[in-house]
Amino acid sequence: MYPNCVRNLIDSLKDLPGIGEKSAERLAFSILNFDKEKIDNFANALNDIKNIKRCPICNNITDMDKCYICNDTGRDNDTIFVVEKPKDIVLFEKMGNYKGKYHVLDGLISPLEGINPEDINLESLINRVKENNVKEVIVVLKPSIEGETTMQYIKKILSNYDVRVSKIPIGIPMGTDIEYIDSMTLEMAFEDRKDVA
Ligand SMILES: [Zn+2]
Repeated sequence: MYPNCVRNLIDSLKDLPGIGEKSAERLAFSILNFDKEKIDNFANALNDIKNIKRCPICNNITDMDKCYICNDTGRDNDTIFVVEKPKDIVLFEKMGNYKGKYHVLDGLISPLEGINPEDINLESLINRVKENNVKEVIVVLKPSIEGETTMQYIKKILSNYDVRVSKIPIGIPMGTDIEYIDSMTLEMAFEDRKDVA
């Protein structure tokens, strides 16, 4: 029905979340209307994504040796926000008034799904707390059984260190992804954070 290259484009677009055959066809035809320069920009942007790697310190995405947050000497090492995904960092950065660091777990502990503590990025968190004299670890994870389990585990493994482990009591329904919370709600919740009991 389509030339091969168009078929390939449609199939690639279908790899995106929420994009089925019809949406992929519509997007593909929009791209077909691009001029040569726009197609080059589009293709180059995609190609550059291959250079994205993880920050060896916090596990955020970066195209440099360290991510821009870990590289920023103006930020303090006393506080670490623990989040599930790199995308969650963007939300907190939009809040604008946080000047500490982050730690991306890349998953939550879920015994049901066979995801154990050693499967997520926890060991380096302990090392950071040990080595950088961190005063507070603020755990901001999806309100869910997995989020709660992970938070309790973090509290447990950090109990031997002189660090406050707090959580942000976000007034949102269980299961809501952190990325869907607006920054105002988040900012209020941040001011209201509590120790992990
Ligand atoms: Zn980093």
